[in-house]
Amino acid sequence: MVGIGEARDASAPPATSFVVPAGRPGTGRLKGMSADATARTTIHLVPHTHWDREWYRPFQSFRMQLVDLVDRVLDMLEAEPDFAFTLDGQLATIDDYLEIRPEQAERLKRHVASGRLAIGPWQILMDEFLVSGETLVRNLEAGWTRALDFGEPMKVGYLPDMFGHVAQMPQILRRAGLADAVVWRGVPASVDHHAFRWESPDGSWVRAEYLADGYGNAAGMFAVPDRLDAAAARFVEWARPWFGTDPVLAMYGTDHAAPVPELAALVGRLNEVHEASHMRVSTLAQYVAEATPLTESDPCWRGEMRSGARANVLMGVASARIDIKRAAGRAETLLERYAEPLSALHLSPEAWPDAFLRLAWSKVIENSAHDSICGCSVDPVVDQVLVRFAEAEQIATGLARRATIAVAGFVPRGALTIVNPSPHARLGHVEAELPVPEAWESVALELPDGSRVGTQELSRKEPILFDHELRGDEVDDLFRRFHGREIFDHAWNGYRLDGRTITFELDTDPDPAWLDVDGLRTEVTAAMRAEPEATWRIRMVARSRRRLAASVLAPALGWTAVRAVEGRGVITEPVELASDGRTLANGLLSVTVGADGTLRLETADGVLAEGVGRIVDGGDFGDSYNYGPPSSDTIVDAPESVVVETELAGPVVARLAVIRHYAWPVGVVAGGSARTVEREPTDVRMEVELRAGEPFVRIGISFDNRSDDHRVRFHAPVPRPSDTSHAEGQFAVVERGMECEGGYREEPMATYPAHGWVDAGGVAILLEHLAEYELLDAPGTNSGRELAITLLRSTGLISRNENPYRQDPAGPEIAIPNAQMRGRWRVSFALHPHAGAWTDGGVVDAAERHRHAFLTAPGAGSPAVEWPPEHAGADSLRLDASDVVMSSLRRRPDGWLEVRLVNLAGQRRLAVLTGAVEEARTASMRGEPGEPQSVTDGALRVELGPGEIRTFQLRRGATAVGHTDLLDAAGPRQNA
Ligand SMILES: [Zn+2]
Repeated sequence: MVGIGEARDASAPPATSFVVPAGRPGTGRLKGMSADATARTTIHLVPHTHWDREWYRPFQSFRMQLVDLVDRVLDMLEAEPDFAFTLDGQLATIDDYLEIRPEQAERLKRHVASGRLAIGPWQILMDEFLVSGETLVRNLEAGWTRALDFGEPMKVGYLPDMFGHVAQMPQILRRAGLADAVVWRGVPASVDHHAFRWESPDGSWVRAEYLADGYGNAAGMFAVPDRLDAAAARFVEWARPWFGTDPVLAMYGTDHAAPVPELAALVGRLNEVHEASHMRVSTLAQYVAEATPLTESDPCWRGEMRSGARANVLMGVASARIDIKRAAGRAETLLERYAEPLSALHLSPEAWPDAFLRLAWSKVIENSAHDSICGCSVDPVVDQVLVRFAEAEQIATGLARRATIAVAGFVPRGALTIVNPSPHARLGHVEAELPVPEAWESVALELPDGSRVGTQELSRKEPILFDHELRGDEVDDLFRRFHGREIFDHAWNGYRLDGRTITFELDTDPDPAWLDVDGLRTEVTAAMRAEPEATWRIRMVARSRRRLAASVLAPALGWTAVRAVEGRGVITEPVELASDGRTLANGLLSVTVGADGTLRLETADGVLAEGVGRIVDGGDFGDSYNYGPPSSDTIVDAPESVVVETELAGPVVARLAVIRHYAWPVGVVAGGSARTVEREPTDVRMEVELRAGEPFVRIGISFDNRSDDHRVRFHAPVPRPSDTSHAEGQFAVVERGMECEGGYREEPMATYPAHGWVDAGGVAILLEHLAEYELLDAPGTNSGRELAITLLRSTGLISRNENPYRQDPAGPEIAIPNAQMRGRWRVSFALHPHAGAWTDGGVVDAAERHRHAFLTAPGAGSPAVEWPPEHAGADSLRLDASDVVMSSLRRRPDGWLEVRLVNLAGQRRLAVLTGAVEEARTASMRGEPGEPQSVTDGALRVELGPGEIRTFQLRRGATAVGHTDLLDAAGPRQNA
């Protein structure tokens, strides 16, 4: 998308804001400078379109326009041998076109083969900051692979309209085989040349072509055919400071624009009338291939680019439509960390669910389109985005469950299977309903090695599901309630006859596995019919079960099992609720609720944060792109009343509910001068949960939003003064300050996106999905600083023409009432106070533990499977390393496993992958096999450089605990 005034019409004079930055070192450094001032400037005209697939109109509406556009482009390619076209760097345009015009595939292939039609390399033009690093990689992999169906993809990392660029993009491109990027928004003021080196934290760099005036810098070149001389002259004059005597890149195209059919003739005429330049039509790939290469001595920008120096970065999209961000986080986590790894390790290679995974990923990739994931589209688009995420989540959940059930085939019935998604052994919280005889006073969970962990009873199931009297001849009415073996969501497992009382024995699990239901029904029917007039008492009694919580140790990416036994077990670092009813403590962390409902957090080693959890509500007269407060804002941050309730008291899990009552203004008055006087009473419920052995406190905030045009943030004063924050984003931890570079036409808000966590001054906020945060001054706190994360931002317009924090529109002023986010919302995260920096404060481990719950399934083994189950408790594939995360683990078409490791630290790290590894090789970011790696004792040992992303492919031995025949073993039990 282009905001009006951003990528300006080239027929208009260059804007005065667009001048060579002061202090620029002359033209001496410019490449290709010729002494011959009379040489004609070469202009590479790149006809293209920028295809926002769905935005201010829904997908199907824009697609009709796309079909017309591609029809015209194909005709022009055939009519004009010198014409070329760049189809916006995303294969989605091809797929969307062919869905309607499948018969045109061969024509497309012909033009791709000729080099005059450039496609890919992406599947979609995504937003870089709002999706996971893995989604970025899968997008490139999908687009590249699809492009091969037509020929070759464009070998350019084309990133024309992303709202800023992530730090690791150069490394992603390099490791996928691309040496060039093309960028616009976010490029800092210090870049003063059209090409610069852009470097990732690992030191790898690409040549970045800077679209200084956007991707439509020549969109209006041919607007007035009889004034081509003037248009070309203006363009060359504009380009000279940026390009020197380098060939000039003229991007002819803009949002949803088609080239004029007579383009070739117009270019010919321009070359006749404008003697100072020579224009040729190119694809972007041709321009980049002929561009002067850069060397190590050329200026370099390292890391992410979020500057607003010359274009708006529209940072408010990180908090627009939190429902989309939450749905994205769920789908990505389930796919990356559950569905793929568990299927890879616990199913046979033949059972790898490739088609399901491709479908789920296609939904996630589709939604990563910048206008889709940003939440800056009309409501019908957002509805479709949410449906796609829901489908991806349904597939991922189903696959994870299937792999877990496969493992459960090795666990006896009555016991519980526990699967650990983390690549290291760890304690995890488990909650499950287990059969426990009524008579037992205390229950422990026994592990396969005989050790016992203590439990906390969360609830007890009501055993009597039905108790009524029936006449004997009403027996058919009784059995009409049954569906085969199923009755009241339970399995019928047997019956007892005692005089004229029949007791049906039920359980949530079928036990025994096989039952002659028809035979039993015939027996009961015969008994009751024998005394048709008599009154029979019919009871349905469920097996006694208790819902138990426990903290259980499970092996790396492997599984264990537990069964309920009578007695007490050990609880590591149990959590206690103090007698004041306001303090939770587990020996690692204590949390106290203050009179105003905020929290005091103190770690065992004395790190202290006070006043944590202030809820701050302020007006927002902005739009989906940019927050913008009313001229006179009213901030509500003091509750009118506070109630604290105990929900759970330990020792495994303790939870308090803090209910704060506020009066939030209903909205903002017309014109945006102030918030309304009318108020909406709003209860904000904050669940504060501390678990045994966890060094962080889990927070869940929920409220029913009945106010419009406002922003709600959670403020956490940090323990120590800090001027910078660290946030985990896309394969990187980035350091950011309290200000960001502006200069163009929006307020340079230092609100930033964090994907995994954000850390400042000794406290980390561990996230479940992408969130917007800001490091703020907090006078009166002991550190003078606080982190704020946005819980909700309500706005009613895609773009407001008069946004107080942005001078020019970012899109059309179209109402999006659903973006007011009315209704009930819940946002959850965790607070992890710690000593030292994030690297030595255990932040990476805490984030791993917070976001990745264990999976459980009832034991589903055949009667031959006995306790303790074989193989339980053994590591499957273990990663030993600090600050190194596993972002992906999946199976490749040739059966090899592929694992991607990311070193988040700024120093070298050793990583050891252990688990019957027999062969290993490197792989590119697109999965192409590379160099063999040496393997010792079933382990791969690799050194990762600072910020390095490495992909390895592994072949494992048959003895590995990733049971290759698990699916078969568990097959008949899968519907249990
Ligand atoms: Zn766009």
